[in-house]
Amino acid sequence: MSYHVDQNGYYGRFGGAFIPEMMYPNVDELRNRYLEIIESEEFRKEYTDLLRDYVGRPSPLYFSNRLSQQYGAQIYLKREDLNHTGSHKINNTVGQILLAKRLGKHRIIAETGAGQHGVATATVCSREGLQCIVYMGALDVSRQAPNVEKMKMLGAEVRPVYSGNQTLKDATNEAIRDWINHPEDTHYIIGSVVGPHPYPDMVARFQAIISQEMRQQLKEKTGFELPNAVIACVGGGSNAAGAFYHFLDDKAVKLIAVEAAGKGIDTGESAATTALGKTGVLHGSKSLLMQTEDGQIIEPYSISAGLDYPGIGPMHANLYETGRAQFMSVTDEETLEAAYNLTEKEGIIPALESAHALAALEKLKFTSGEVVVVNISGRGDKDMETYLKHFHAKQ
Ligand SMILES: *Cc1c(COP(=O)(O)O)cnc(C)c1O
Repeated sequence: MSYHVDQNGYYGRFGGAFIPEMMYPNVDELRNRYLEIIESEEFRKEYTDLLRDYVGRPSPLYFSNRLSQQYGAQIYLKREDLNHTGSHKINNTVGQILLAKRLGKHRIIAETGAGQHGVATATVCSREGLQCIVYMGALDVSRQAPNVEKMKMLGAEVRPVYSGNQTLKDATNEAIRDWINHPEDTHYIIGSVVGPHPYPDMVARFQAIISQEMRQQLKEKTGFELPNAVIACVGGGSNAAGAFYHFLDDKAVKLIAVEAAGKGIDTGESAATTALGKTGVLHGSKSLLMQTEDGQIIEPYSISAGLDYPGIGPMHANLYETGRAQFMSVTDEETLEAAYNLTEKEGIIPALESAHALAALEKLKFTSGEVVVVNISGRGDKDMETYLKHFHAKQ
């Protein structure tokens, strides 16, 4: 069985390209050209050079002595938090901007929720001198002021979206509308392994550098390329896709995906898509979605803005359904505990999203020889307000 995308853009029964006819030209162009471009030697070189000199890759694989003692396994942390702009998102935007250039596009659009993907997009647009427009729900604009200011300083135009709940889903709809109206000169940089084919595959390939490096680094540190388990959080699923990618066909490696249970799966305030979702179509692909009986999207909730998306990418829906990956969820409370724990034990303040992956360690059983890699998708600077609020409440 293959866990990769097939010729028609499907992962098992998930994926595809469910798009309005007016979007065909854009998506077709991308589908016809992305592989030829990103597999060319000239592209690989520019991409790899930028990842090294601009992003700061390879990101370290750090052995955590104290988490290892605490959990009774050999625990390594993949330090995506040390990347330029503070998370794994830059791996994807660097790749897509180089692709956009080769497609002759000089206008870039993106959607953003918490603002991390917007900042990563504005960053690479600044470097290339390309026009950048970021759609953001009006509610998110007011909640994420520092990232809005960063995008503006980087030269991007932030367009608030007032429709719907004024959050990520609505921003994505608006970006799609823009793309339809500007088919010739515009590339749409989607921020996760979601959207119509070829986006899920393309973004997964750009994030696959994470597991490519893990294999090399594990070999150097342990003498063996394969860990026993890889753990990553899942919003749309791009950091998990990158962390799993080069292990998908190595069945001995347990792949563990952690979703946001929010206040609890049964509270109605959650973003645990596999626990609560049903098959449906959102933003151009068929996947698992949180929706009502009659197909209305249920608003997700999580303490971490990067995980409150009502769906997951089609690759993950298939990993879930085939049982290749184990899906679990952790609550806001468990996440905060895990974040404080890493900060206290290792002096690393993780992003709230990444703290979900750490919280899974509490619920899993390992033996002392087992090698476990936790993907630290981003740093916690952006979450200080939330951390301080809860820290003071605890004291
Ligand atoms: C955006 C974000 C996520 C969630 O997105 P995925 O596509 O699921 O990776 C996770 N961690 C961090 C730090 C983020 O910024």
